[in-house]
Amino acid sequence: MLDKIAFRSIPSGLYIISSKTSEGRRVGCVVNTLIQVASEPPTLSISLNKDNATTQAIMETGTFSATVLTESATMELIGLFGFHSSRDLDKFQDIECIPCMNDLVYTPANACARFVVKVEHRVDVGSHIMFVGPVADAEALSSDSAMTYAYYHKVLRGKTPPKAASFIAEEGIDSPTEQTGATAAGDVRYGWRCSLCGYIVEQEELPDDFKCPICGVGKEFFERIEL
Ligand code: FE
Repeated sequence: MLDKIAFRSIPSGLYIISSKTSEGRRVGCVVNTLIQVASEPPTLSISLNKDNATTQAIMETGTFSATVLTESATMELIGLFGFHSSRDLDKFQDIECIPCMNDLVYTPANACARFVVKVEHRVDVGSHIMFVGPVADAEALSSDSAMTYAYYHKVLRGKTPPKAASFIAEEGIDSPTEQTGATAAGDVRYGWRCSLCGYIVEQEELPDDFKCPICGVGKEFFERIEL
């Protein structure tokens, strides 16, 4: 038996990982795989899809920074880092970046802690590579609650990018009526849900040139739903 639903019971958070290519280009992505794996020395691990631009950069430069996202993080921020590739886009161009160790940056918005890791071990784990290393720099940024992956799914109604370690191919779409329900008068309102990232647009029709503000796909990826 390999019940994929079982994996959803493993709690995790959401983290923005930043690194830099050997040419100095900033790259980053959002993951749910940051874990403290030792206390002495304080050591973190992440695992990243082999196809990610961030993975390639960490292979080249051997270091990354990580921020722990809070529940105030928006779908727009998570979508920017989770549903686009750093090969096509400078994800940092329109958000605040603060320089930190190893010539890296971190993004302080909606973050409650940050770390810089020097990678000492790489483990090939199939679809992903696990990077493990001691923490070179750590700082608590706020006392706000860290966002859990469950919060992302249940409150923000977010979906899992296909390259994520926790991606389940047959991931279902939760009943949209649980979100807002029908109006008191019994009228049914309609909207549109992005089938890739889960973003919901509350309007009757979408223009032909509509693009998802989170993941960038076109109107054809939106399905009509009851609100
Ligand atoms: Fe989308």
